[in-house]
Amino acid sequence: MKRARIVIVGRPNVGKSTLFNRLTGTRRALVHDEPGVTRDRLELKTEWWAQGRKFPVLLTDTGGVGGERFGEEIDNQVGIALEDADAVIVVFDGRAGLTALDEDLMKRLNRAGVLKRLPVVAAVNKIDAEQHEAMIADFYSMGLENVLTISAEHGRGIDDLEETIAQLIPDFLEEEADSDEVESEDGEPEPEPEEGLPRIAIVGRPNVGKSTLTNALLNERRMITSPIAGTTVDAVDSLASIGGKPFVIIDTAGIRRKSKTEQGIEVLSVVQARKTLERADVALLILDGEKGLTDQDEKIGGLIEDAGCGVVLVLNKWDTQRGTDFTQEQAAERIRGQMAYLKYAPIVFTSAKFGKGLNNIGELLTEILHQRKLKIPTHEFTEWVRKESTVHNPMNAKFYMCHQAGRHPPTFVCHVNDPERVDFSLKRHLLNALRERWGFMGSPVRLLFVKGASDRKPKH
Ligand code: GDP
Ligand code: GDP
Repeated sequence: MKRARIVIVGRPNVGKSTLFNRLTGTRRALVHDEPGVTRDRLELKTEWWAQGRKFPVLLTDTGGVGGERFGEEIDNQVGIALEDADAVIVVFDGRAGLTALDEDLMKRLNRAGVLKRLPVVAAVNKIDAEQHEAMIADFYSMGLENVLTISAEHGRGIDDLEETIAQLIPDFLEEEADSDEVESEDGEPEPEPEEGLPRIAIVGRPNVGKSTLTNALLNERRMITSPIAGTTVDAVDSLASIGGKPFVIIDTAGIRRKSKTEQGIEVLSVVQARKTLERADVALLILDGEKGLTDQDEKIGGLIEDAGCGVVLVLNKWDTQRGTDFTQEQAAERIRGQMAYLKYAPIVFTSAKFGKGLNNIGELLTEILHQRKLKIPTHEFTEWVRKESTVHNPMNAKFYMCHQAGRHPPTFVCHVNDPERVDFSLKRHLLNALRERWGFMGSPVRLLFVKGASDRKPKH
């Protein structure tokens, strides 16, 4: 098996160890606080998942020496990177900004020919929340094509980092596994590797049919039986086949658990939604097709939007409308009216109790996940923004480099002469046009505007 040799470099304290642990799934305490303590170069074999395929990696953390020996250390790191790496991750501290030591490292990497010879990804770390995105403007000045923001500590942007590297060196991706083969020959369900499968959160207020739907999905043809142990006893995830494709349903036990009092349930369903959404790729927001929508549905919808995962609106108990004049179009229109902010979310109609409409969910999940994988090249996106901003731009904002900074959710950073000049209506126009051009069905899209300089031209 071919393994991609990927080397992490960066000045001390930017979060290399934390990232190494995150990318290898280890929790070993490798974080050194004492300056000047030499840490051996550390290597670990690990498997990532990218494009739905296994990506075997040998990850090297080049360690850290603080203080005066920094120059020596960088040369050492560069040496390691040069030896036999297939790709390099340069880690920066997004909170501290670009420092002289970072620039020194880049110069040495450049001098040693690393930037020309190897794919290099800049990982701007410690961007723990979306509002910190604007702090990364500096890092575009280095002329690197791949600048991603991450939070090694919180796991933000890690999937994107792995996907980006896999795209740069796709030869290391393993042959596609046949995902339909969930059963072995004797008909017994085989334990599937849960790592890397899309994670689905099933959320909604009490009594909308979450556990009925979950059971229906778990019982659909060849599904699994053995629960996958989650991180805590409370959270048990399960493998399910939805429309013939494998998915992990997050916190299956929590969905089935019933609380004693009504009020208890109400609170629980929001707490539970918040927790599962953190780990989800796509959420199914279950709505009650018999009783209609309430404030609480909107609240949970808002949590999904904030979490940035994909979303499908599932109007369940649709069987109760049989024989009435109420049509699916009318129902959809009503939902759009009450949840305007989720207008990008597709709506499906199900009867979980009778196992109806579930295949549609599988198809939509697959399509949403597919559209989230899209990565728009920087020059293409920049040109597109410039063109669109000639259509509508009441305050005459000037756009420089515009670039996709992440995929979960799709996140775009536009450099402008003055973010204040980006009128609300211009932002709305760009968002609408962006969806028209690229889709991103079922995913929230983040569009951020930061002050940039005119010399930050897109790199072709
Ligand atoms: P290294 O010297 O480059 O290996 O850096 P470490 O991994 O030892 O991290 C240095 C410090 O940055 C530690 O205190 C980490 O807890 C902290 N750190 C690492 N990643 C993040 C992050 O994503 N967000 C924040 N806020 N702190 C981080
Ligand atoms: P949860 O609290 O969201 O997990 O909801 P449950 O799955 O426990 O369902 C609440 C009630 O709604 C139960 O009595 C179910 O039988 C019923 N129910 C669930 N799905 C449907 C459906 O598709 N049609 C109808 N008519 N009833 C349903």
